[in-house]
Amino acid sequence: MSIYLDNAATTKPCEDAVRAAAEAMTEYYGNPSSLHRAGLDAQLAVDGARKTIADSIGADPSCLYFTSGATESNNLALRGASAAYGRKSKRIVISAVEHASIEETAADLEKKGFEVTRVSPREDGRFYAADFVNACGEDVCLVSMMYVNNETGYILPVSDTFAMIKRKFPHIITHTDCVQAYMKLAVKASALSADLISLSGHKVHGGKGVGALYIKKGVRVLPIITGGRQEKGIRSGTESVPMICAFGAAVEKLAPTVKERWDKVSALRAYLLDRLSGIDGISVNSPDDGSPYVVNISAEGKRSEIMLHFLESKGIYVSSGSACSKGQQSGVLGQFGITGKRADSALRISMSAETTEAELDEFVTALAEGMEKIRG
Ligand code: PLP
Repeated sequence: MSIYLDNAATTKPCEDAVRAAAEAMTEYYGNPSSLHRAGLDAQLAVDGARKTIADSIGADPSCLYFTSGATESNNLALRGASAAYGRKSKRIVISAVEHASIEETAADLEKKGFEVTRVSPREDGRFYAADFVNACGEDVCLVSMMYVNNETGYILPVSDTFAMIKRKFPHIITHTDCVQAYMKLAVKASALSADLISLSGHKVHGGKGVGALYIKKGVRVLPIITGGRQEKGIRSGTESVPMICAFGAAVEKLAPTVKERWDKVSALRAYLLDRLSGIDGISVNSPDDGSPYVVNISAEGKRSEIMLHFLESKGIYVSSGSACSKGQQSGVLGQFGITGKRADSALRISMSAETTEAELDEFVTALAEGMEKIRG
């Protein structure tokens, strides 16, 4: 039996998602663009999921566009909005702790003539809305700021920042990567003052290969994939009906329990931190008021990969830093003031509402054993 504590990398699809995908593959196998009954049935299934997901963020279904995942949603948001609005205002503001799908995309836009301003946390390791507003100006077309950081669980002040930016610079388009916040915190388009929101299916027990971009009515985003004009021309390519249905089913299941699960995982986090305090050499890198789903720690003197594989040998799966960067250090921990040996020994434990205290006990026991046995 394995103990899966890497839910920020991906989650296990829930039964409802698996059932919905199987049902779509057997019943709704038509192409949603086809004009006959089989096509219509597939289109109705896609639109059902669209409504469920749009409802969950307080949006009209017509504002939700399906993609292959949040990497594509983030690319579409940055490339598509900068293409639409960046002819004259050629500056983009992002946080310095974004996921690679934002950071690398912004870096690519930088090569293509845009200027990118990266806002870092202050010395206290915290982000301030005023710092983003001060980084903005008439020359900025787009601001992108993640809601929950995937490596530490830090919650960025998105709603305050976007509200202030919209007041001072109404022309600036606001985008937030809500991948690690969605179905964990309330993600509502209007409360966040967000024009664009990226979501991913596989972080919410919905399965891989599906995501969505919310685009506020009236906001222009030029497509980055052209072809058969699916998704109203914003994202060409035949829709992945099974994965879209799975995403919708997962959201339908999770949406009513956002608060309940947050409280449950908060209690698990408190339990874990209490148990970890009994092990010498463990320090906590996540902030106290971060998302409880992500707990980043450092195991003094033990390289992340070595500890990760030691834990793996006991059937326990965690991550070193960000799993999406295949073990490469992303620099995000450094932004939060975690550098050198402490960053080299960082481990990310990410839970789901299915995680149990018994699993955390086993993890803590194995970690303590690793601290004793591993040499460097
Ligand atoms: N944004 C954040 C914050 C993430 O954590 C991830 C995945 O780890 C992504 C974007 C990319 O999502 P996807 O795997 O759906 O492309």
